[in-house]
Amino acid sequence: MSLRFQILGSSSSGNCAFLQTGDCRILIDAGFSARRIGELLEDIGEHPENLDAVFVTHEHSDHVAGIRGLSRQPNLEVFANAPTAQAVRRGLKREVNWRVFETGTTIRFRDLEIESFSVPHDAYDPVGFLFRQGGDLFHPEKSVAWITDLGHVPQLVREKARGAHILVLESNHCPRLLQRSERPWSLKQRIASRHGHLSNEAASDWLRETENPAWRQVFLGHLSNECNSVAAVEEAFAFARGGGVPWDLDIIESGRGGRCCEL
Ligand SMILES: [Zn+2]
Ligand SMILES: [Zn+2]
Repeated sequence: MSLRFQILGSSSSGNCAFLQTGDCRILIDAGFSARRIGELLEDIGEHPENLDAVFVTHEHSDHVAGIRGLSRQPNLEVFANAPTAQAVRRGLKREVNWRVFETGTTIRFRDLEIESFSVPHDAYDPVGFLFRQGGDLFHPEKSVAWITDLGHVPQLVREKARGAHILVLESNHCPRLLQRSERPWSLKQRIASRHGHLSNEAASDWLRETENPAWRQVFLGHLSNECNSVAAVEEAFAFARGGGVPWDLDIIESGRGGRCCEL
């Protein structure tokens, strides 16, 4: 039983990852058009028709743009909490095969256990996910945490993240580039607020302060196209380079996916 994880794309203009286990193939968020998601899946040798489910964190278009097109597949199950499902449903003509969960509960889907937990962000009921597989005597647990779109990091989120083998978190903006950008003042305030997005420094402090994490691989995603750069992220995460930490760190550039991880 292996677990394969690959980020198809992650930035402020679209987020989507592919997760495969022995029993299922799922997407985590679907923030590109269904057609684009199809192309990205083909690039890694997969097909949208073989997807079993999509897990949706919140209703912003950079996380749900593909739901409309993907819902043409009648058997595709779409997992979201009720406020998120309701918000997404408003923009759709076709009915979606919703699987509504309550935030904070554990969902069982095939050979996966999925925990959802609240994150502080300006959406109806945004969540992060922890996907776990295995965990018995013969199959050691394997886990992936997907945590983007949060203005600060509550204790519960820190705990969920700490135990994951693969961690995806956002390193959204560089405060200097945000202030210098052409964006209206109100939007800058929103992004930098406690219900907005994590800055590079906030994400970096979080990782540095975490004691004894289970991480083998950390991906930094959801970089803002206008208010961040790979160089700025590298600067904030210098402590994790040069063998400074026992886990690998990859930055997801806009327009590119992540490398394939197998656990
Ligand atoms: Zn969002
Ligand atoms: Zn987002």
